[in-house]
Amino acid sequence: PYNGPSADEILAKRREYLSPSVFHFYKKPLNVVDGKRQYLFDEEGRRYVDAFGGIATVCCGHCHPDVVEAIVNQTKRLQHSTVLYLNSAIADFAEALASKLPGDLKVVFFTNSGTEANELAMLIARLYTGCHDIISLRNGYHGNASATMGATGQSIWKHNVVQSGVHHALNPDPYRGVFGPDGEKYAKDVQDLIDFGTSGNVAAFVSEAIQGVGGIIELAPGYLPAVYSTIKKAGGLCIADEVQAGFGRTGSHFWGFETQGVVPDIVTMAKGIGNGIPLGAVVTTPEIAEVLTRRNYFNTFGGNPVCTAAGLAVLKVIEKENLKENAHIVGSYLKDRLAALKDRYELIGDVRGRGLMLGVELVTDRQTKTPAKAETLHVMDEMKELGVLIGKGGYFGNVFRITPPLCFTKEDADYLVDSMDYVMSKM
Ligand code: PMP
Repeated sequence: PYNGPSADEILAKRREYLSPSVFHFYKKPLNVVDGKRQYLFDEEGRRYVDAFGGIATVCCGHCHPDVVEAIVNQTKRLQHSTVLYLNSAIADFAEALASKLPGDLKVVFFTNSGTEANELAMLIARLYTGCHDIISLRNGYHGNASATMGATGQSIWKHNVVQSGVHHALNPDPYRGVFGPDGEKYAKDVQDLIDFGTSGNVAAFVSEAIQGVGGIIELAPGYLPAVYSTIKKAGGLCIADEVQAGFGRTGSHFWGFETQGVVPDIVTMAKGIGNGIPLGAVVTTPEIAEVLTRRNYFNTFGGNPVCTAAGLAVLKVIEKENLKENAHIVGSYLKDRLAALKDRYELIGDVRGRGLMLGVELVTDRQTKTPAKAETLHVMDEMKELGVLIGKGGYFGNVFRITPPLCFTKEDADYLVDSMDYVMSKM
């Protein structure tokens, strides 16, 4: 049983001692005290189906025993920044991670977050190419430090940062974009940005394969192959931000970029890599990695043995429990059921995504696609009361983000859809 402070007491402390920028989703915020597999429990022991998974982070399930054991064992033995000494945890995980990537992508830099991974990836690209310009996508999210905040393509996530050298390309959004699902037409905009906004050469193109924060937007088919070839011609490197879509979440593939059949020059990852432990990584080729030897480069906690031991355990669990295959099976089932709900409620404008990275966009009018912001908040809140947690995103805050732990079951999917159905039927 839980003996800690109540939700109201925690809320009061948060208001007094935490940054006023810290926000929460619900009218009556939830106090989560325990987690197990795809479930979270509040202070009264009430169970919630967690369909947000700590923002696509908890891939193996909350407190997976194998991951917990790896963390505890390593913590008891040694917790120290080991980059300056030898230790097997970091080397074993680097090897295992490299084995999951195609081609020559086998040199790993560890970081503590997705922001750090993307900052480093852009730095490497700028060093390697000697160019400064970076192209990213409108509506993308890449982090909250200066280069990553610059690359992020949504005003709501940008503070007054000096956005040096970033060009934001048309978003290949099949639902709202001007060219619908025609990926190659959007790709032409990247060539235009290079021709009219740069010297003709760029450092990099960075994007997610499925935008997470942006509202689960799967880039229009054919987009990445066309853009990658444009970028290569302009001497740039292609960076795949796999912070949300990686680690089997798409079900069909281990990495999001694989869904478009491309091979990036640099891959960045975080979130799912550690199942909740702070860990990020940049993986690139030996030739590109070489640029960081020109000066010292160091990160105190990046690749520490506790986090890398957790990362190795995560990879083993994904394999052992066939979590990618489960994401495919359960995700397809869930998407079909959500699509059937769309046939019944005008409020649902779009159902999209793949595997266990699904989005449901709510609109007040299907023709004008006017974002149904208030309705989104209402449905989320009511679903919480029924014991289902989902996320929210998209530039207009009108898209449900469904990114549960990859051990989600068909029964969980049914419960989620039945709850959404019930709430919408009462509106
Ligand atoms: N890239 C993507 C695609 C993300 O979704 C996020 C986090 N929402 C980041 C980068 C930044 O990761 P972090 O919050 O760990 O810095």
